[in-house]
Amino acid sequence: MMELLWLLLPVAAASGWWIARREYVRRHDAAVGNADYFKGLNYLIDDKPDQAIEVFTRMADVDRDTAEIHLALGNLFRRRGEVDRAIHIHGSLIDRTHLTAEQRRRAMLELGEDYLRAGLFDRAETLFQELVEQPDHTAVALSRLIYIFQQEKDWRQAIAYCDRLERLGGLSRRRETAHYCCELAEEASQRQDEASAQASLQEALSRDPGCARASLLQGRLAMRAGDYPAAMTALQAVEWQDRGFFPEAIAPLSQCYSALGRLDEWLVYLRAAHSQDHSGRVTDAVAEWLLKLEGEDAALRFLESELRDYPTLLGLRRLVEIKLGHGRGAEYADLRALHCISTQLLNSAARYRCVHCGFVVKTLRWCCPSCQQWNTIKPIPDLVMKSG
Ligand SMILES: [Zn+2]
Repeated sequence: MMELLWLLLPVAAASGWWIARREYVRRHDAAVGNADYFKGLNYLIDDKPDQAIEVFTRMADVDRDTAEIHLALGNLFRRRGEVDRAIHIHGSLIDRTHLTAEQRRRAMLELGEDYLRAGLFDRAETLFQELVEQPDHTAVALSRLIYIFQQEKDWRQAIAYCDRLERLGGLSRRRETAHYCCELAEEASQRQDEASAQASLQEALSRDPGCARASLLQGRLAMRAGDYPAAMTALQAVEWQDRGFFPEAIAPLSQCYSALGRLDEWLVYLRAAHSQDHSGRVTDAVAEWLLKLEGEDAALRFLESELRDYPTLLGLRRLVEIKLGHGRGAEYADLRALHCISTQLLNSAARYRCVHCGFVVKTLRWCCPSCQQWNTIKPIPDLVMKSG
């Protein structure tokens, strides 16, 4: 027994030495890591990002935890608009073998965001397609893929991925997918493929019955085919679908009623719509058609009464325009000046505003260029003010 103890003594000593050595190496590496961390931090504070990246990159070889620093650092560069640096950091992370699977997926996600920011959609798509199969990242990857397909105008793919995201239990995507169908309809219409255009518009309305754009397009297609009753039915739907877009239906509707020789009915219809909507464009349309169908006195009576309660610049200009025909001398000069001023104001004013982000444009856009929301840019209802 004693012999055995003597024999084990060197083994125990060697084991003690090995454990102590390993602890020394671990502490030494940690110390080196901490030193590098502060060194990298100092470079960042001194606005020397290249040196900071070099230090942080070296640290990744020391300790797996530094992956978090790299992820944060890459995001920082992307937010600052230095996308090349962000791509370099996140890209080099993915290549490292010691990362956990989750860390690698997060690095892929961030690299995908970098590529999107840089406009490298094909590379971003490859990454997000891989991530879409990872349950923890499916929803984010799907939403980013939808964004990519939208930018690439690949509407069919965008619809398919929206449907997939909706099935995951996310928010309804019907408004967006209805607009994607409208985009397909516009493309089909441009290549004179009426049947495909009609089918896409039917799909748009089945996805979102309140899609005024689909009805406006249906009206346009029917008018092109000379089917004015069908066009009227489609265009009249806009009023209950989304009243904010009704001013867009006024001109084509008036053409339909005119083509069918039913202008008296048109005026009745327009006045009924106006009782619900006193915005400048509707008021101006009523005045225009009263002038054409019932004469100046009727138009002036309407405008003088209307503008007292609902003053609009368009209504004012129409009033001045009619009075100009009878103005003489100084009164004529005043009316002429007023007409010029109101026209200049109208020409310089934005006609549409995004109800989501406030972005203003002069022509109607169905997807806001600023916030990328669909159906949020609406005609500005009144160019002056509303009565208190
Ligand atoms: Zn917007």
